Amino acid sequence: MQHMSSPVRFRSTKKATFSEKELSNLSIEDQEDTQFPYAMRDLPPVSQPGEQNQTEDHHEADGSGTAPNGRLPSLPGTPSLPRPIPVFASGSPTVPQRPIRVRTDTEFQPLQLRRQFASYSSMERPLSPASRPQSPWGRFDPYESAEDQEKEYVGFATLPHQVQRKTVKKGFTFTLMVAGESGLGKSTLINSLFLTDLYKDRKVPNAEERINQTVGILTHTVSIEEKGIKLRLTVIDTPGFGDSINETGSWKPLEDYIDKQFEQYFRDESGLNRRNIQDNRVHCCLYFISPYGHGLRPLDVACMKALHNKVNIVPVVAKADSLTEAEVQRKKMKIREQIEQFGINIYQFPECDSDEDEDLKKQDQLLKDSIPFAVIGSNVQVESDGHKVRGRVYPWGVVEVENPAHSDFLLLRNMLVKTHMQDLKDQTGETHYENYRAQCISNMTRMEERSVADSSLPLAAADTETQRLI
Ligand code: GDP
Repeated sequence: MQHMSSPVRFRSTKKATFSEKELSNLSIEDQEDTQFPYAMRDLPPVSQPGEQNQTEDHHEADGSGTAPNGRLPSLPGTPSLPRPIPVFASGSPTVPQRPIRVRTDTEFQPLQLRRQFASYSSMERPLSPASRPQSPWGRFDPYESAEDQEKEYVGFATLPHQVQRKTVKKGFTFTLMVAGESGLGKSTLINSLFLTDLYKDRKVPNAEERINQTVGILTHTVSIEEKGIKLRLTVIDTPGFGDSINETGSWKPLEDYIDKQFEQYFRDESGLNRRNIQDNRVHCCLYFISPYGHGLRPLDVACMKALHNKVNIVPVVAKADSLTEAEVQRKKMKIREQIEQFGINIYQFPECDSDEDEDLKKQDQLLKDSIPFAVIGSNVQVESDGHKVRGRVYPWGVVEVENPAHSDFLLLRNMLVKTHMQDLKDQTGETHYENYRAQCISNMTRMEERSVADSSLPLAAADTETQRLI
């Protein structure tokens, strides 16, 4: 972040705007969510299957799996058909479909399939890439190159794309917990991160109400869709955290909530309907640190230590626009030292492989060095350098939320959404939930052993025990 006394340094070079058109592209699925005026907007485009790309030579498969030129697609590594075969919109053999139990065209369909099999097993010379039929994998076809057409392949290089198609269909879920005292800008940051208005009906308690306020748990769920990918985002807010005079145990409801979700998941996993388990486990906890103190407060240390083995903690310094650049750096260093000193296990970014791209390695190092992220939030759009941006207006200039020179907001959002969302989920499942599960199983085993030992007690003693219980 730049120093606040220099208005020129706050001028934007970004061209981000919130146009009506972009916002109207959003689809909010839950009925109760239709009240939200904003939703996902301007994350840089991610290429997805089903997305048409005019500049590419080949085309994506449409819903029927039919190639745009009406020909059958090539199977990986197998020679293509010498001439086009008409394909039919439904039941097209080009995209593998689940078996249909009731078929109306029983007369015709087998013939169609037989022709297909015959052509796949033929060993005719491959056609030149330009004249080859389009693949259902479009630009994801790993066997598209002319060179590949000369070789024989089994075809399993398409496996990642098969997985992708299935997961995209299912949609994604992500649960984020925000913790930190009231007024640190938690709700503003969440709205800025996900371009939603999750806190529309929020009632902010007055000072008197806050004295005796207990920590509550509020969940907000919104379904957002971007470029055909659906994300069900749940934000767990903790109003009242650190508000009460007696802060001891402020984190207990948070801990209980996380445990409860693990317990539910454990029950569902052991139940009959394991296919449709809804994953409500908390994947990440954004822990807000006040910019006004000298690093971590005792409450911060106690809370993070209570949660660090249950959830991925990502610490953030709130309202970074209230600090100069030098102050931000000093605060970050102090907080990192304290995290080490108190043995707090925050979320560790996975190590980059040595053979990774240099740019990626640099980006990864930048992420690691930026912890705790110094963030700024804003719910309003302001004019800066002729562009509309999310920002905060001061007499000396505009602080832009998404300007990397002003805060780590973009780093945080990219990490959370674009680069590490899946890793956060994996860590939750593989580390935190596994710990919980192992603990549960060992408790259950101990109880079982005790009940076996109890059942082998002498009859008289057992009778006395039964009588006592009665
Ligand atoms: P919460 O109680 O932690 O959810 O905090 P809010 O999001 O309600 O924000 C409390 C106040 O801080 C509001 O007046 C916000 O406008 C303001 N605020 C939020 N984010 C920032 C920020 O990054 N910088 C500054 N200076 N103020 C902020």
